[in-house]
Amino acid sequence: PNRYLSSLPTTVFTVMSQLAVKHDAINLGQGFPDTEGPADIIAVAAEALKDNRNQYAPLTGLPELRDAVAASNQRFYGLEIDPATEVVVTSGATEALAACLMAVVEAGDEVVLIEPLYDTYLPMLKLIGAVPKCVRLQPPHWKLPEEELRAAFGPKTKAMILNSPMNPAGKVFSRAELDLIADLVREHDAYVVCDEVYEHLTFHVKHIPLMTLPGMRERCMRIGSAGKSFSLTGWKVGYVTAPAALASVIAKAHQVMVFATAPNLQRAVAHGLNKDDSYYQGLSDDLELRRDLLRDGLHRLGFETLPADGSYFIVADITRHAQGRTDVEFAKWLVEHAGVATIPVSAFYDPDGSAAPQNLIRFAFCKKPEILEEALRRLEKAL
Ligand code: PMP
Ligand code: GLN
Repeated sequence: PNRYLSSLPTTVFTVMSQLAVKHDAINLGQGFPDTEGPADIIAVAAEALKDNRNQYAPLTGLPELRDAVAASNQRFYGLEIDPATEVVVTSGATEALAACLMAVVEAGDEVVLIEPLYDTYLPMLKLIGAVPKCVRLQPPHWKLPEEELRAAFGPKTKAMILNSPMNPAGKVFSRAELDLIADLVREHDAYVVCDEVYEHLTFHVKHIPLMTLPGMRERCMRIGSAGKSFSLTGWKVGYVTAPAALASVIAKAHQVMVFATAPNLQRAVAHGLNKDDSYYQGLSDDLELRRDLLRDGLHRLGFETLPADGSYFIVADITRHAQGRTDVEFAKWLVEHAGVATIPVSAFYDPDGSAAPQNLIRFAFCKKPEILEEALRRLEKAL
């Protein structure tokens, strides 16, 4: 079998979720909401299942979903998108990421990444044969180091992956940071895979798609996920917005990997995307309350937390409680002794790079307030 895949460990999300089950722990590890998505969206999917919507969808997605993706780009960001040629529906943002990378990156090309990074980026690049060039955000403010970012770009740079709002850091890139990135991307004639699955999950901070900056419209592939925008992570429906010349190639990658995504779910996601602004505001307001609840509780327990302006996640510094244990050891200890599962942040760094920080763990706060409160009580008891 393929040596790289054989040696790839099982994802930390699965490992921690299994430990959570084993120890009957509250799972603040893997990022998924513990409530269902909106009932009206689920009802549309159920209707579509009964309505003979069960054969192959068109390769690039149902027209009604591509229309809804284009309209959403216009409504939230003022982007003019042609739904016929500039949208590709995929089976989750994960497939979208693979398809976008395959569309522009070839063996030997360099790709700029920002650590801590989502765990599928590096394996996808390794399988393509690309060379990752990682730049580290600096705790405790998740600062983007300009000189290191400049140094990561070079004559072989083909693309960058930019995740904003960011998992696990909860960082939403500022306009100034995006301007710097856009300058470097233009200068090096590169593409950008914009992982924006948390686009609607920001807390009093504006999410700016890189695609809206000057010169970026033709270079960016912007990825969204119904999993995050509608709290339906199991559905695995994603969508890419890209200029037609790239979208047609992304569609080829989709053609050879998946071909078409479940039509009943696509119809329901189209309905979801067309929901009015109050739905999206409610989604982020609700999550913000949960972030505040968990963050304030962690502070009371003596943890310092890092800024978390978007996504499902907040990162805490464990130095005061870890008694010399690494993040991996401490996370294991917490799940066994406190009954709370988290994710060690070192899992979000290139295993072949220099030593990752070992003093940070990630908590998911996309859980019911009473569950977050119970998790805090358990932590208080164990620490
Ligand atoms: N990118 C990031 C940053 C994520 O956190 C996730 C899922 N948690 C994905 C992509 C994958 O999304 P999907 O489930 O739609 O494949
Ligand atoms: N993206 C989710 C997280 O970061 C999990 C996705 C997965 O389990 N693959 O927790």
